[in-house]
Amino acid sequence: MSGKGLLLVISGPAGSGKGTVIKSLMEKSDAFAYSVSATTRAPRPGEVNGVNYHYITREDFEDRIKNGGMLEHTSYCGNYYGTPKKEAEEVLESGRNLILEIEVEGAENVKKLYPEAVLIMLLPPSFAVQEARLRGRGTEPEEKILERLSRTKEEIPRVVNYDYIVYNYDGGAEYTAEDIISIVRAEKLRQSRNDQAAKKYFE
Ligand code: 5GP
Repeated sequence: MSGKGLLLVISGPAGSGKGTVIKSLMEKSDAFAYSVSATTRAPRPGEVNGVNYHYITREDFEDRIKNGGMLEHTSYCGNYYGTPKKEAEEVLESGRNLILEIEVEGAENVKKLYPEAVLIMLLPPSFAVQEARLRGRGTEPEEKILERLSRTKEEIPRVVNYDYIVYNYDGGAEYTAEDIISIVRAEKLRQSRNDQAAKKYFE
């Protein structure tokens, strides 16, 4: 991937408000593109095929893995989730910043493949707030909520593999999106991303 777009990985436990923050981010700037993942899980009420996810069968998903069509993939709470490779590459080549909203294992795999990727962990203010948000959302049965909370306990210690931690306070999605824009601005100015600066200066 040689394009100039930034590969931005945003992870966060269920209830961290990833969806709202990313929506705000995309509204603030058209320099971002969202990678629509493929999944084998069923759509939640209100979710739209091709917008939130590409909802596909296990068979189709396994075929795509075999054919090298996934940039990364994982199994999460009994379902497959993965990033379609072709779409991701096209966005990066176009110079836009690509947002991958993926869980920790996928994020770690992306960082191995693309060390220049920027990994951001979005956190609710606390585990207690996360739990309250998940129950308040009312989109999942208790059993699924408990499964996601238990997964959170495994995921949070892996925050050490991330470049940034951003907190998403209640009602603060816009501020959180601004934090992410600041990160992107600074990352673009990194010396390592501008390693021809001296040469260009004298051209
Ligand atoms: P949900 O079912 O709540 O939409 O997503 C469950 C988890 O899967 C979330 O942590 C989400 O970030 C993650 N996820 C969504 N798409 C992908 C993907 O393409 N790859 C990976 N590794 N994780 C994903």
